[in-house]
Amino acid sequence: MLSYQHIYHAGNLADVQKHALLARMLSYMTVKDKPLSYFETHAGRGLYALDAAEAVKTGEASAGIDAVEALGWFSQDHPYMAALTQVRAQYGGRSYPGSPVLAAQLLRPQDRMTLAELHPREFEALDRTMNGTGARCLKQDGFEMLLAATPPEPRRGLVLIDPSYELKSDYDMLPGFVAKLHRKWNVGVVALWYPILTSGAHQPMLQALEAKDLPGVLRHEVQFGPARPGHRMIGSGLYLINTPFGTSDEADRLSTLFAAL
Ligand code: SAM
Repeated sequence: MLSYQHIYHAGNLADVQKHALLARMLSYMTVKDKPLSYFETHAGRGLYALDAAEAVKTGEASAGIDAVEALGWFSQDHPYMAALTQVRAQYGGRSYPGSPVLAAQLLRPQDRMTLAELHPREFEALDRTMNGTGARCLKQDGFEMLLAATPPEPRRGLVLIDPSYELKSDYDMLPGFVAKLHRKWNVGVVALWYPILTSGAHQPMLQALEAKDLPGVLRHEVQFGPARPGHRMIGSGLYLINTPFGTSDEADRLSTLFAAL
């Protein structure tokens, strides 16, 4: 049974990296009128309350989005900040968009959104939150969902693969999964999130991914202090395939900002 709940970590520095780059990529990809297919294999509940007891308990959002907003990392017209502003206006000042709600702010009526989430309570909350957005929410294994749904119509599009890595086998299976996905959907933009761990457990996965020699790769990693003393995660990575034009500028900007934290 899965136990991970993103509410303990919502708005942390890993979310800032992941969500800022996701927002930038979607804003570039929606410049053209042509429709998009958007997928998430691990959607979470979609919307978080940063004043909920779980979020306050870890304090990760205070050290994350709250801290970087105070430092002025994102201008009001940055797509991440614009989405945050919308979500706060709609759901309250301490609400925070998970990746599905963030994407829903940036996608257009002609785009198609499919979200998978396995945890029963997270799924129920996701399904409720996304009601009326046109998103298809599936209580299904995200990896199975994606292989069954690709190549999609419309062909252009992006998938966010954001596992909780509760199953250590995810590290072993992901390089083969991503390569298979790319063979099925060669134009799809793939964004795979991974933690940077003191143990180095993520490294063999990255070596195996590099050996696949996939096109348009951007490997973006940022480092930060552990959320709590002894916490094993000390950074956050995104492995992008078919990286949209312009993404590397935002990635470089974020690298500079994180390095100065
Ligand atoms: N992408 C979300 C965001 O940025 O707001 C956070 C997702 S959280 C890191 C990972 C989620 O994946 C958890 O809610 C967990 O229940 C779910 N999950 C774990 N294994 C899964 C699987 N095989 N298929 C679908 N969902 C899964």
